[in-house]
Amino acid sequence: MIDLTITEALEKLKSREISATELTHAYLERIEKYGADLNCYITTTPERALADAAASDARYAAGNPLPLDGIPIAMKDLFATRGIRTTAASRMLENFVPQYESTVSQKFIDAGTVLLGKANLDEFAMGTFSKTSFFGAPINPWQMERKLTAGGSSGGTTSAVASGLAIGGTGTDTGGSIRFPASITGLVGMKPTYGLCSRWGCVAFASSLDTPGPIARTVDDAALLLSAMAGHDPKDSTSADAGFHAHTPLSPILGDGKKLRIGIIKEFADVEISPDMKRIFDARVADLKSLGADVVEVSIPNILDALAAYYIIAPAEASSNLARYDGMRYGLRVDGTDLIDTYKKTRAAGFGTEVQRRMIIGTAVLSSESYEVYFMQAARVRRMIADSFNAAFEQCDLILCPAGAGTAMPLDSDLTPLEYYALDLFTVAMNLAGVPACSVPAGIAENGLPLGMQVVGRRFDDMRVMQLAKHIEQFAGVDNRPTKIMGK
Ligand code: GLN
Repeated sequence: MIDLTITEALEKLKSREISATELTHAYLERIEKYGADLNCYITTTPERALADAAASDARYAAGNPLPLDGIPIAMKDLFATRGIRTTAASRMLENFVPQYESTVSQKFIDAGTVLLGKANLDEFAMGTFSKTSFFGAPINPWQMERKLTAGGSSGGTTSAVASGLAIGGTGTDTGGSIRFPASITGLVGMKPTYGLCSRWGCVAFASSLDTPGPIARTVDDAALLLSAMAGHDPKDSTSADAGFHAHTPLSPILGDGKKLRIGIIKEFADVEISPDMKRIFDARVADLKSLGADVVEVSIPNILDALAAYYIIAPAEASSNLARYDGMRYGLRVDGTDLIDTYKKTRAAGFGTEVQRRMIIGTAVLSSESYEVYFMQAARVRRMIADSFNAAFEQCDLILCPAGAGTAMPLDSDLTPLEYYALDLFTVAMNLAGVPACSVPAGIAENGLPLGMQVVGRRFDDMRVMQLAKHIEQFAGVDNRPTKIMGK
């Protein structure tokens, strides 16, 4: 049963061929079997899941099911869930139980989903391999014995969905944390337009970049999840007055003489990517051409500076957002000799190395000596990148680029912080510009591992982004059934 997509499961639930309780049991059993090895959940919620499933079955029986009734999902442990521990994978929040529900998780409740648990991630979503988690890294179910990364920061969700320990789930993408992990686990990861999904109740990393979004096995499934989670929220001042309502299956935007101009970013041409990524990317572009797409070269002149700008802006915002963890109101507290000593001891013990590094960088770039030369300069680069995307979208409708340079790397790869940061090269610019971008499985590399590529669109053109992603998905034909990936 765990090989079903959301689309297929909904059909079977509606026809009452399966019940939500049966479906939930199938996932809970699998979590029981493989959850500890994969380390994809920080907290599992089996009782809540079975209660949710029973409520779904009652609604199906009464003939008034909700849009995603009975669909068992994983929630990234960055979304506050009332009465359920929410840790952000940090020792600081190890025992934090929120009194309130984030808007996104509430919307999933309202859509009838079943909550299986809270998925592992990088501490405060800062990282690329989910290795900065206080709870240890989740594992990629592809070639599991090799202990590869499932990516980060939403690596717990991708590990869970790829292994059949959830049918779909949520991520957040500040600089690539939905798209990168999806690309190396054979999944679809959609970073919507900034503001499409509310950030309210989602533990803040960098507020002007943080973007909640769905992770699923197919584009249609991701569209279903995004339809549930998007929408204006008066509690988030940056929430857009727009929604996303997909009619699935998403309809084709190519073929039958339909015209579409697809842009390829010139500046990325010289960036080194694996031969597999190059071959697969070129093959998918050729496929789209065969359907009638016009492929044009576009320029985003400052896109290679996006990384530098991101690693100034994101830490700056993080240093401000994380100032609230002072041991006074909630979270960890380590008593010291006086107030200042308590702050110091609490923050030294509560935050891991990478989070501390970000706060130090952020505080430095915001200091009066550095503010003009670093922070303001980065803000200007950000504006230029956003303007360049606008200009590029005068010449094309959608843009294609790789999601990462290569396939999943071993968790024990010994990279320096800067080498980790460099892995975000293909993803951060879209966050700086606030545009929607979807990573979709594009093919399988020689080593048997999946590779993803990105479709990028104009702000609020999320639907077409996903429609083009679906064409790529169909050409690629990557088999991501969990029993196939795990061999069990
Ligand atoms: N890898 C990036 C970082 O470490 C992106 C993280 C994210 O999108 N949450 O900041």
